[in-house]
Amino acid sequence: MPKIKRLPIHEAHKIAAGQVVERPANAVKELIENSIDAGTSRINIYIEDGGKQLIRVVDNGHGMDHEDAQICLEKHATSKIRSINDLTTITSYGFRGEALASIAAVGTITLLTKETGSPEGTKVTAHEGNITVEPVACPEGTDITITNLFHTVPARAKFLKKRETETRHILQIVQAISLTYPKHHFQLFVDGNLSLNCPAQPTIINRFSQLWGTQTSQHMMPVEETEPKKGISISGAISNHAWFRYDRRTIFFLVNNRWVTNPHLARALVKGYDNVIPHGRYPTACISITIDPEQIDINTHPKKEEIVFEHPRIVEQLVYKAVRTTLEKGVSQQIKREVSFVESTQEAMNTTPFPSYAPSADQPMHNMPPPALEQQIASPIIEQEQQTALPTQTSAIQETEPYTLIGQFNKTYLLIEQEEGLYLIDQHAAHERILYELFAHRFEDVPTIQLMFPQLIPCNGDDLAILEPHLSLFHEHGIAIEPFGKDQLMIQSTPVHLKNAPLAELIKQVVGWIQEYSSVDKETFIKTVHDKLRAQMACKAAVKAGDELSNEQMRELLSDLYECPNRFSCPHGRPTGWLFSLHDIERKFRRR
Ligand code: ADP
Ligand code: MG
Repeated sequence: MPKIKRLPIHEAHKIAAGQVVERPANAVKELIENSIDAGTSRINIYIEDGGKQLIRVVDNGHGMDHEDAQICLEKHATSKIRSINDLTTITSYGFRGEALASIAAVGTITLLTKETGSPEGTKVTAHEGNITVEPVACPEGTDITITNLFHTVPARAKFLKKRETETRHILQIVQAISLTYPKHHFQLFVDGNLSLNCPAQPTIINRFSQLWGTQTSQHMMPVEETEPKKGISISGAISNHAWFRYDRRTIFFLVNNRWVTNPHLARALVKGYDNVIPHGRYPTACISITIDPEQIDINTHPKKEEIVFEHPRIVEQLVYKAVRTTLEKGVSQQIKREVSFVESTQEAMNTTPFPSYAPSADQPMHNMPPPALEQQIASPIIEQEQQTALPTQTSAIQETEPYTLIGQFNKTYLLIEQEEGLYLIDQHAAHERILYELFAHRFEDVPTIQLMFPQLIPCNGDDLAILEPHLSLFHEHGIAIEPFGKDQLMIQSTPVHLKNAPLAELIKQVVGWIQEYSSVDKETFIKTVHDKLRAQMACKAAVKAGDELSNEQMRELLSDLYECPNRFSCPHGRPTGWLFSLHDIERKFRRR
């Protein structure tokens, strides 16, 4: 007995439709994209019951004539491409002519449309495969309503989530598209209430303000980056170092104006915030990538939300670079410190007129070199061989607008007056960061000292056995350490910063890491343990909360910190400083 039967055509459509329209938000996206393809400047979106009862999208685009309206619900009916070859140059959202047909297969459609300049419009209704077309009086543009989505597909309806969840998905689509088009006017009505009203705005940052309020938008900075050789450019806006969220819901990527999801891009973005915002927190961002359409494939997924790049690494690296440059720029603006870097020569240093708080000219500068971008972006997302070491040259710095050091508070925080407000710096976190960068990148500048009396540290046989094959770890960090007898270690010299540090504790921690990372590959092991050791050395050597600092020490700390890459947080991710803006302070005192 033959088993195979052809599915009735409308049943087959329902299944195929599931690929395009899984949930109401997908239909909303397709409809808004159609409106944008139709050259609209204003879109009103109405949803009821998370889109399950009703979705309506009204635009003022060019509309359709009677003939087009009649066939637009048919599968593969599209005005946007004529052949598969057009796909490489496509600039419209739609191209498969599938969306309306798919929606019609799983819901009831009522479409009113009138072409610009036409005396009369067309009304099309489609219900379970029955299509009626009639002339109608209606405004120019297109008004499309979908009701009873998935009523005919109970298996799909079962998977729909609560009204709130579906609404949230729709809201996210509207947010993404309205960020893509700040100059369009969007309104979203949820269950009869106007929940988003976004009139046209001059910039994306104004759009952030409409979507999430000024609390968010005042932390947003425009981003610009290009890779001319590959024809890739980045624009948009990202949040600054003083802002983070606990979720990723306000991170958006657009590729050629299409909202896409791509975990690698998201990772590159978040990586850009390494050492700037705490681990496990997320920025707010809309990164818009413009790229030659030949270098991407958007046709990999029916919903066109996933994207494949021909050279993903280059794009990821550019995103990373854009974030780092923007953060760096944002902070230099914030601390209003226009520094100009002069090529390092002793002469230059001696002749540079340092303001009072900089180290004096006859004192060696232990500042970090300027955080040149290409050097900063040497990160794990870049291939190993592309990594560039930080330069070892010292640079002299010229200040134009110094801040005022007020003093030390609670023997823990440095208080600094700046134009924007009061800056509090955590002395321990700041010093940890300075030392970490020094140990990580300029270790040759770190003097070691021979201990007058070698330090003997008790170490049980088990720990000794774990440590012995890895003693080079310590040697590379300037700690001359050898086994001494069966249960001791002898330390003969250490970096000068660690001369009073509790080394026994450090060694115990290293034993722990060696065990913890024993199963990872050698390269990761070395990188991780080295990094942890440096961070811990920095922690042990840094000034502590409670240490009283002289004015000179505070100034040196500040000047070192401001030259430090990744200066916004300590190596463990705690912030090094916090700005209490004059604006906020004045508001608290009700002066504003
Ligand atoms: P696609 O967008 O891939 O072409 P759709 O099924 O989404 O396929 O739409 C089919 C066709 O209907 C489009 O090519 C377009 O010509 C027309 N159309 C759909 N929505 C609108 C609209 N809002 N304004 C004008 N024309 C529209
Ligand atoms: Mg479409």
